[in-house]
Amino acid sequence: MASLRSPSCPLPCARPGRARVALCLVLLAATLAMATEQPPPQALRSDSGRFVAANAEFTLLHEMGHLLIAELDLPVLGREEDAADQLGFISLFLSYGRQRDADFYAKLLDIADYWRLEWQRIKPAEEEVYAWASHGLDAQRFYNLACLIYGSDPDQLEWVPKVTGLPVERALYCDQEYAQVRKALAWVEQQHGRTANEPIRHRIQVIYEPLSQYLEDSQHLLAQIRRSGEVEAIAARASEAYRLPRDLVLRLSNCGAADAWYSRTGGELVLCYERLTYFHALAAQLPRLRQTPAPALCQACR
Ligand SMILES: [Zn+2]
Repeated sequence: MASLRSPSCPLPCARPGRARVALCLVLLAATLAMATEQPPPQALRSDSGRFVAANAEFTLLHEMGHLLIAELDLPVLGREEDAADQLGFISLFLSYGRQRDADFYAKLLDIADYWRLEWQRIKPAEEEVYAWASHGLDAQRFYNLACLIYGSDPDQLEWVPKVTGLPVERALYCDQEYAQVRKALAWVEQQHGRTANEPIRHRIQVIYEPLSQYLEDSQHLLAQIRRSGEVEAIAARASEAYRLPRDLVLRLSNCGAADAWYSRTGGELVLCYERLTYFHALAAQLPRLRQTPAPALCQACR
């Protein structure tokens, strides 16, 4: 995010007098303040490939959250689905290290916006998420993620509440929410993390099932995902970071539904090819979504 991090003084300051320096600093501060209020242009540009990759990665990391909860026998306060979202978000966030540039935030916004699209989608009854369900409502998952993104660096991300419509009442405490999630992961790492000298006893093996004939059209999409090596990287990171109690499998498979899950019984995380094609189809709606004024959406949700 070079434009935000390297603001240049808007006055020619080559021969600064004291008043000129003061004015320059004021203008510099104003420029900086304006800059943090503006989203990087990438964040609002719709990119179908980036949307699919970002949401495939988050889906895998959400399911990896379930895997860690089950395999490491983690204590969970609140709903497991919320904990899996939080573990997925913070794992993705931290895996990018200090590379928090405009593309990174564009990716995070793609993930939050997936839930905004789900929230707006008119669904058949069997796909509807009800208040009694184990998952949060789509709108809640959207705001939860928007809050964690903003809370990760409120000073630099003033544009996030504006773009997402995250109300100030929630935004005020997002830094605390982010800190809680970060602390929870630090605890997991401390309790179950593998030290550098410890051998890796168990790994997560990645298996790609052959693509069904009816998904032939998605061949290129799968090839893209495989080429990126992201699935293998996620499996390797988890195998190396934690003391897993047994060998596990991460399977990409044809399921007949746009789904993903972790099976405790089989020790298997499944990501359905149909989910990737679904992300691809949904990405076509991004340009329309990003023209929708966020505050109007927020009024609708109250
Ligand atoms: Zn889940």
